[in-house]
Amino acid sequence: MALTSLAGQKNLKSLIASEAVSRHSGAYLLAGEDGKGKHSFASEFAKALMCENPGTDGACGKCRPCHYYDALTTPDIVRIDKPDDTKNVKVSDIRERIVAESSVKRQFSRNKVFIINLDYVSVEGQNALLKSIEEPLSDVVYIMIASGTDRILATVRSRVMELKFDRYTEDEVMNILKSKNIEGDDETLRMICAMSSYNPGRAVMMSADDFFIGLNRDVTDFTLRLADDSLTDILCTENTFLADNKQNVDLILEIMIKIFGDMTKYIVYPDLPSKTEYAKKIHKFTVRHRQLSRSGIDRCVTALIDFKKSLEVNSNFDGACCAMMLKISKELKK
Ligand SMILES: [Zn+2]
Repeated sequence: MALTSLAGQKNLKSLIASEAVSRHSGAYLLAGEDGKGKHSFASEFAKALMCENPGTDGACGKCRPCHYYDALTTPDIVRIDKPDDTKNVKVSDIRERIVAESSVKRQFSRNKVFIINLDYVSVEGQNALLKSIEEPLSDVVYIMIASGTDRILATVRSRVMELKFDRYTEDEVMNILKSKNIEGDDETLRMICAMSSYNPGRAVMMSADDFFIGLNRDVTDFTLRLADDSLTDILCTENTFLADNKQNVDLILEIMIKIFGDMTKYIVYPDLPSKTEYAKKIHKFTVRHRQLSRSGIDRCVTALIDFKKSLEVNSNFDGACCAMMLKISKELKK
């Protein structure tokens, strides 16, 4: 269980496994937003590069370098990550811990590996690295990770082989959440997957947060109430709900768009099963409001998009909220 212990990313895994056996570069870049698994993949790649018998699943886990790696006792891996006291790794540290260390012979492993988090390496630091990554020794490998490629010098990028992440599928993120024993019904977890843009790390963070689950429930109830609310309810109670959650308005909008999407599903397929509490609420609502049409729901979503646009141009928040709620309420009551 080396690469297979990590979820998803079939293409990346197979590339890592084959590069560990037969390299095409001495320097690699794993770039992707936080939460995608850069650190985990970089670690497994490093272990496979150090392993004496790497295979299709990466490191063998049985050889001496693998044992030393697992016991954290190998001198053949150097990790350069966020410094404790400064924003960036000091250039003197880059010179000492990477440039000079690169010429120190490996001891137990097949390759000596450096994992360098470029998010904490300044332009000057990256320049200091250039020569090392351009002409690495035959048994030295640099694995660089970065949350984005904007800060990386073109001269660095041109010297590395980029290893790309694919988008995680919903099932993959769901499996990651379940493997971490995260509680919650499937519907809620699937919504969290979508809200996280299928970023496993972000999904784990969101699902560990009771706040999100609570907000999800509150926004569902709020949206469904709009079908019965009086004008006074909208201007007072519902407006207060949105004003109290103003800092999460983007998230509320995403949840509402998801709710209207699910309403459409039940309008088109009224016999779809509704297992979760959330799905039952939406299903019951569409049964009770049989007059609802897909075009009406589309107009509700348009009202949300208009609301988002008006917030972007700094319209009055309360006014924009009321306009949006009135439009949706009118559609739901038709
Ligand atoms: Zn091994």
